[in-house]
Amino acid sequence: MVDLHTQYEKIKPEIDKAIQDVLHSTAFINGPAVKEFQHDLEEYLGVKHVIPCGNGTDALQIAMMSLGLKSGDEVITADFTFVATVEVIALLGLTPVLVDVDPHTFNITPEAIEKAITPRTKAIVPVHLFGQCADMDAIMEIARRHNLYVIEDACQAIGSDFHSSEGWTRKAGTIGHIGCTSFFPSKNLGCYGDGGAIFTNDDELANMIRGIANHGMFVRYYHDYVGVNSRLDSIQAAVLKVKLPHLNAYAAARNRAAAYYDNAFKNIPQLKIPFRFPKSSHVFHQYTLVCNGIDRDALIKYLAEKDIPAMVYYPVPLHLQKAYRTTRYSEGDFPVTEMLSKNVFSLPMHTELDEEQLEYITRHVIEFVKNA
Ligand SMILES: *Cc1c(COP(=O)(O)O)cnc(C)c1O
Repeated sequence: MVDLHTQYEKIKPEIDKAIQDVLHSTAFINGPAVKEFQHDLEEYLGVKHVIPCGNGTDALQIAMMSLGLKSGDEVITADFTFVATVEVIALLGLTPVLVDVDPHTFNITPEAIEKAITPRTKAIVPVHLFGQCADMDAIMEIARRHNLYVIEDACQAIGSDFHSSEGWTRKAGTIGHIGCTSFFPSKNLGCYGDGGAIFTNDDELANMIRGIANHGMFVRYYHDYVGVNSRLDSIQAAVLKVKLPHLNAYAAARNRAAAYYDNAFKNIPQLKIPFRFPKSSHVFHQYTLVCNGIDRDALIKYLAEKDIPAMVYYPVPLHLQKAYRTTRYSEGDFPVTEMLSKNVFSLPMHTELDEEQLEYITRHVIEFVKNA
């Protein structure tokens, strides 16, 4: 699904030197590379504070912890997402309130959020799924009206631009009160291990987030809150500092591959190509098609026989996962998510796809559909 090796080969001298520099300095924790990357990312995103941490799941958890929520407080998020979003809500003793998504963008809808709000609702976590922003204009308007926090899960959408109908453009993760991202190797800005970061323009929240990520400590060995230990290590920061200047070119390469796929599939009624939400750029963390009247799992099996990987993100809606089943929900509650989980599949999407590979992949997908 990704080709991290070819990508590494192209920047090998810079990466190897950056890692060697950390090894020579032996400043493995909180070395200069961490601060440097933090500043570079603040500048790239146009956000006041970037707080690096251990991974994207930690980023979400720490963000949630910084809001001072209480057991039983409700947090609204999408049913169609990676589990981490809901996992941290549940882990903190908060109540995840799941809502359905839009069949075209796959993102949480403002209408569904509005309907799910109760007096106990404290926060909304929109997930910018597959690389495209949710409708942040409408979500921020709802949040203001109901006095709710917004934590953006931008783990799949770093670098994506949201164009507000008010005329401004901002990066995914910098619009809500807090934004979270992951530097997992296969993410759009991936390091060579685990990594994550939290973004905010709010000085007080930034201070709280820094303290919570560091054992709830604001003055050395004085612990004001129950915190966690979550850091981006210096080697990962050094890798990210080298890769960040390439992020826009990486997004452009992903968009070129997406355009090739689109062009190959656009006239095939059995396949629905990814919808482009006019208010967001798309950074194509995934290129995800929706099957219409063909056997998705048979298609994936057929592709596997031709050595073409294809994946289903995500095969089971969160409300039907064993760990998250409650009497609150039952099958049929979220028809769009349930339909998507049965019909979506994602094709290889990364920065190194060449024309020959794209031709081979699209030819075999079309071959299956024609014979289906
Ligand atoms: C990857 C991902 C996460 C978690 O990131 P990790 O770094 O793997 O912990 C959270 N939410 C979404 C939507 C993701 O894609």
